[in-house]
Amino acid sequence: MPHQVGLFLFKNDLRLHDNPALAKAAAEVDELICVYCLEAKHPVSSLRAPSNLSSHRLHFLQQSLTDLRTSLLTLGQQLLVSSESHLDVIPQLITQHNVAKIYCSQNVGDYENQSWGKLSKRYPMIDFYCIASHTLFSESELPFKLADLPDSFSKFRKAVEPLTIKPPLPEITSLPPSPKIEWEWPKNLVTSINRPLFHGGENQGLAHMETYFERQLASNYKETRNGLDGLDYSTKFSPWLANGSLSARRIIHRLRRYETQIEANDSTYWIYFELLWREYYQWYAHRYGKKIFSPSGIKTSKPATSFYPERFKKWCSGNTPYPIVNACMKQLNSTGYMSNRGRQLVASCFVHELSLDWRYGAAYMEQQLIDYDIASNWGNWQYLAGVGADPRGHRRFDLAKQTKIYDPKQDFIKRWGGDLHDSALDSVDAADWPVSGTQQHLQEN
Ligand SMILES: Cc1cc2nc3c(=O)[nH]c(=O)nc-3n(C[C@H](O)[C@H](O)[C@H](O)COP(=O)(O)OP(=O)(O)OC[C@H]3O[C@@H](n4cnc5c(N)ncnc54)[C@H](O)[C@@H]3O)c2cc1C
Repeated sequence: MPHQVGLFLFKNDLRLHDNPALAKAAAEVDELICVYCLEAKHPVSSLRAPSNLSSHRLHFLQQSLTDLRTSLLTLGQQLLVSSESHLDVIPQLITQHNVAKIYCSQNVGDYENQSWGKLSKRYPMIDFYCIASHTLFSESELPFKLADLPDSFSKFRKAVEPLTIKPPLPEITSLPPSPKIEWEWPKNLVTSINRPLFHGGENQGLAHMETYFERQLASNYKETRNGLDGLDYSTKFSPWLANGSLSARRIIHRLRRYETQIEANDSTYWIYFELLWREYYQWYAHRYGKKIFSPSGIKTSKPATSFYPERFKKWCSGNTPYPIVNACMKQLNSTGYMSNRGRQLVASCFVHELSLDWRYGAAYMEQQLIDYDIASNWGNWQYLAGVGADPRGHRRFDLAKQTKIYDPKQDFIKRWGGDLHDSALDSVDAADWPVSGTQQHLQEN
């Protein structure tokens, strides 16, 4: 066999445990180049703006990459991180190192998959491998063709629940060496923020998962999961799951051990149930491709909306007439995280109270959330905007009622300053005329 150089493109799989694509690369080549590209340029949709990531998201990513780099170093490897698109970086490495095989994990995202397709067309003599690692099942394990993905989560759940989830692969403990490459980490990746909520990286993700189960929080998850503030009411697995520092199969495996050794109850089932929601959205995004970014979603007509820049700005900064929404948005802006209940409320407000185009809300969360995941974010937004996988459609939350249930003493609202907001939503009316208070002022003068 001739000496073969492989290239592994890390994406949302920043880990050594349960990484089937990396395991395959490790077994098949003599030398391996490990690359991660920040994809600063994003030509598909101006609504999606990764070049403008929040400092929280960027910081978490930086920590995740630093942890991965350290783990690779202990295996005699190096991680090449670039702020350029992989369409620019990979061709250079192919030419310089005579790369014969390229590997990556399968991910959703139309742009991501198109550019992978472009590369493989440009280099027909190179073998390309793209392997599922972000999901519990691979496509061939699903009991239906992707084109026949059930149109609701309930049907999907019933179809996949009888399946066995494969055990996670063990951690990779040896890798082929890297050819000698001089490389500088991009300067725009260096960020620091005050008291981050979570620490990025595979080791931190695994440790967090272990602590969660050791503290037996899983036994009460179903009762606590609708909390708004704090670290313990839900698992907080999402930041590590999103960039793949933690594998979903590894979590299920740990959950099953908990159920055998400690207890299995409605709460432990519900963690699995929520991970199936995640699974559903992944396959939903694979099934519908670029429709997950389309205003009409997977339906035929789009919701009636206008663009109100002032409302959009007020929603983003937490200055709407809805204190619960403001508190959630301020929490998001300060930490990069928001509870699931909060996300539902702010999205419902965005669509139904403010009559804004749901895609701008989704794009804002894309910039801010440290657990941003293409499929979960855009899929959930579509669901709430009535253009997704919701058989009932049109989910409008009564914000006053939700506040009474989930923040009865308004502690959360007060803590985040949600009650501090302008008195009116719009400062001008439909004819661009200043509203009430301001009008009176003009008449008096
Ligand atoms: C408008 C909107 C946008 C969202 N954007 C994202 C996103 O970008 N990234 C993301 O990971 N989740 C997203 N979610 C789903 C959910 O809010 C988060 O997964 C959850 O809040 C993360 O916190 P946790 O890990 O403590 O969740 P837990 O309640 O502990 O749930 C355990 C795991 O189940 C999965 N999960 C739970 N709820 C959902 C759900 N509704 N949809 C898909 N998966 C779910 C997550 O992987 C989560 O880590 C969004 C929800 C809404 C309503």
